[in-house]
Amino acid sequence: MDALFWKRTMTLRNVICPGCGACCDDIQIDFENNDADEPGIIVKNACMMGHAKFSQVLSDRRIRDPFIRDHLDRGTFRKASWEEALDKASCILANAKRPLIFLGGDITCEAMQVGLLLGEHLGGVVDCITSVSDGPVAMGIQEAGQVGATAGQGKIRSDLAVYWGANPLESMPRHMSLYAIYPRGYWTKRGWPDRTIITVDPRRSITAKMSDIHIQLKAGTDYEFLSALLTLLHGIMPHPSVEAVTGISIDEMNEVLDIMKGCNCGVIYLGSGITSSNGKHRNVELALHLAAELNRFTKFVTGSLRSNCNTGGFNQTASALYGFPFGIDFSRGYPRYNPGEYTTVNLLRERDIDAALLVSSNLDAHLPATCVEYLAEIPTVCIDAIQGPMTRLADVVLPGVIDAIESEGTLHRFDGVSVYSRSIMNSPFGFADSNEHILKQLFDKVTKII
Ligand code: SF4
Repeated sequence: MDALFWKRTMTLRNVICPGCGACCDDIQIDFENNDADEPGIIVKNACMMGHAKFSQVLSDRRIRDPFIRDHLDRGTFRKASWEEALDKASCILANAKRPLIFLGGDITCEAMQVGLLLGEHLGGVVDCITSVSDGPVAMGIQEAGQVGATAGQGKIRSDLAVYWGANPLESMPRHMSLYAIYPRGYWTKRGWPDRTIITVDPRRSITAKMSDIHIQLKAGTDYEFLSALLTLLHGIMPHPSVEAVTGISIDEMNEVLDIMKGCNCGVIYLGSGITSSNGKHRNVELALHLAAELNRFTKFVTGSLRSNCNTGGFNQTASALYGFPFGIDFSRGYPRYNPGEYTTVNLLRERDIDAALLVSSNLDAHLPATCVEYLAEIPTVCIDAIQGPMTRLADVVLPGVIDAIESEGTLHRFDGVSVYSRSIMNSPFGFADSNEHILKQLFDKVTKII
């Protein structure tokens, strides 16, 4: 291991954790020793997910060398030099008619920008984790607009939190303790005891168990429930059949609305439950309308509990460059956007791409089996720090840098605020400082071919 592996040999404070969208910025890192043979770090203040993220640096599954699949030797992997692997990867992309570039949610905005420009140059499609996770939130915001707020405003002002299809105790473990429930605020001098928590979820999740009110509606009926709440808010009785459809009585709906209207400041946190249930972005649209209309009675805002540390970063970067938040097709020489057509699952299912570049993708957790089977058929390049199913089906594997730990860059927190993360150590590779650097080198090679 490189003797320069540790950047410093002391305690680092206020480090940003790239473990999830919360981007907690109070992490302390103690370097146990600076021994190149036996390095170790102690991570303080992080949750278990955060610990797992930082421990990737020393993981046994860390990819430390480039690999190329040897088709002459029954498709086995062999180690390759950096230049050879980069040449092969650039040939795959340059020779494709319509490659897919998929950018994961835990790389920096700077790396995403290079990925987008590369996709434009190649005339391919550039997509991100949003299209298989919280894409409906982006689409809902495009339809309805958003009354939003920073996490700090929610922390200081809100006395009501509505977790809609969200289970932060498992998906974003420090959301409650750092931003939403435990901190003392303007209206909440005692912290949690002064706040009300409502969870809307068909499942009895651990967040639902610790909530003051759990609205256990029938699965897939968020749209009907939201429609009924909006109808009641307009002073009209919804059709009685809504009770049988949602499993929630109109009296209960009125009770919830009274709590919402009576709070000093409320926040609706949208989770993957509302975006993946029937109605998808239409559910989000109604939730955003509900929050906007509640402002006739009190202050109400919305937020989205995004899963990865920089899921929102792609949306922001792509929107700034091309005006579209995800799933951008450049095959006609100009950007086109049509979720359901130019998004990863649809492109793979329809066999509409002929090569792929996956950057820190974790796509195995999101894709249907038929899409993974097609990915295994076409030439695929993976840039990843950790071995996984996607690196096993690739033709070229380039070792990835763990962004925001081994390289610095911009992340977009779950509330849309951009934060600049310093690196706590150098990249372990001599050939690349960051994923941005890897993509730039790949781009250079591609421009020499086409
Ligand atoms: S809540 Fe998320 S950002 Fe905060 S320490 Fe845990 S994994 Fe890291």
